[in-house]
Amino acid sequence: MITGKNYVGNRLTGSGTKTYRTFNPLLNIENENEFIEASTEEINEAVFLASDAYITYNQKSGKEKATFLNAIADGILALDDTLIKTYCSESGLPEGRAKGERGRTVGQLRAFATLVEEGSWVDATIDTAIPDREPTPKVDLRKMLVPLGPVVVFGASNFPLAFSTAGGDTAAALAAGCPVIVKSHPMHAGTSELVASAIIKAAKVTGMPNGVFSNLNSSGIEVGVQLVKHPMVKAVGFTGSIRGGRALFDLAAQREEPIPVFAEMGSINPVIMLPGALLNRTPELAKMYAGSITAGSGQFCTKPGLLLGIKGESLTNFINTLSEEIIKIEPSCMLHPNIIGTYEKNKKSAIDQSGLVVAAEYGSEVSVNHAKQTIVTVEGHTFLENIKLHHEVFGPFSMVVQCEDAAELQNIISNLEGQLTGTIISDDNEITKYPHVIATLQNRVGRIIFNGVPTGVEVCPSMQHGGPYPASTDSRFTAVGTQSIKRWVRPFSFQNWPNDLLPNELKNANPLGISRSVNENQTFDAI
Ligand code: NAP
Repeated sequence: MITGKNYVGNRLTGSGTKTYRTFNPLLNIENENEFIEASTEEINEAVFLASDAYITYNQKSGKEKATFLNAIADGILALDDTLIKTYCSESGLPEGRAKGERGRTVGQLRAFATLVEEGSWVDATIDTAIPDREPTPKVDLRKMLVPLGPVVVFGASNFPLAFSTAGGDTAAALAAGCPVIVKSHPMHAGTSELVASAIIKAAKVTGMPNGVFSNLNSSGIEVGVQLVKHPMVKAVGFTGSIRGGRALFDLAAQREEPIPVFAEMGSINPVIMLPGALLNRTPELAKMYAGSITAGSGQFCTKPGLLLGIKGESLTNFINTLSEEIIKIEPSCMLHPNIIGTYEKNKKSAIDQSGLVVAAEYGSEVSVNHAKQTIVTVEGHTFLENIKLHHEVFGPFSMVVQCEDAAELQNIISNLEGQLTGTIISDDNEITKYPHVIATLQNRVGRIIFNGVPTGVEVCPSMQHGGPYPASTDSRFTAVGTQSIKRWVRPFSFQNWPNDLLPNELKNANPLGISRSVNENQTFDAI
């Protein structure tokens, strides 16, 4: 049942005075439940509890944390139709997408459970003492990764489950041993409360400390700002716009004790369309890209927002075919009137820039909150000179840039801001004629794709979801896949520490049977 209250640790509370409702964009009406924004007292209590919980939670074994994470996954599945219906009513997204995203969320939780139960992820590194070394004895040093402390998580509007309350950031932080305080996204407060109830239930059943998780409602930025400024918060996970991520990053840097903000933000995901591929495969490519640009109403951080080609008949033909294909697609509902409002505003502001030509825009009337997909085109030099054209338009919009030649193409790539992905569309060995293009693109992105589309982010250890700024605030880490756990830990060394007092990961006997580096050899053996 949705109460509209906050979870401050295990307690449901709503002492604040500010209330709000979520919105059903398909029906164009407010949803029934009223939510109470967290008060300053509730925010402080959630952080104090998290800080307290950290002392015991960070001592939990990998097995205990795995049991907790699996119980959360089970609890989310047990919410069944209630969760799916709430998700759909708060997002306008179809049931199939809701179920798919639930599967991904549950899969992520279970993947982290497996990782921490196995245990080798802590990078245990041991160098044993050499007491008789000359001229000075060598000390015994043992290092491993330890959790940072309470983490605040902000989810994005476009993934009410997978990048939200029990999404990748939360699963990774809990797996690392960090308590989590979620600032619930105002557009899906009901979905968030339901998922939070599953987390709290799992925490109680598996014996986790009160405060290991809190879920705070907010209708504006105040709750998030207070959380990021709170001295007991030790790190922040954010998924959303560049503006939001940057604001929080700056706030965290201005604190007396600056803390890391791992912000995963917007991207235009350049696609390089080489001439040979366009000449031979335009019908197939146009269809594939029309689908990728409009998937989820263009509300994906990996949507291809920028298509780069070299001027000529094959590029003109591609633009025409893409235009024909994209207007065949039935427009879909966006997440919220504010999102479609911002889409229309940003689209207009792009189209109003000098030199932009609209190649296609869905022409017929659309239902309320449904977005009209649009393709625009621009000359390479105009794109280069106008930085406004480099910004994300979140929604079913893409820009085709017509470059004079390969040199201009390369110049444009090297002038792009950091991106989550880059894609090369090439025929056979065509790409080998453009070695500098690959090198330049690789320098601007976190993931490079060959002959495909950037949408669709596989969850597995080799995924890199993040890129040079502003795609993310720290390109050394991924936000997707089990390696994202590394964001919530720090390396810690024990020097000459008694064996009995060492954590199990570093004891001589290797009681957990994990893989460790011992005197520079990777081994499962005891010492
Ligand atoms: P958003 O407007 O930035 O909101 C995200 C969250 O941040 C919300 O909870 C919002 O709170 C909060 N927020 C925003 N500005 C803030 C500020 N100045 N101070 C404190 N809190 C602030 O983004 P969105 O519309 O939800 O999501 C769409 C964006 O996310 C797109 O740009 C998309 O590309 C990006 N995205 C990126 C990834 C990725 O992995 N890189 C994945 C999905 C989406 P309020 O709503 O209460 O203001």
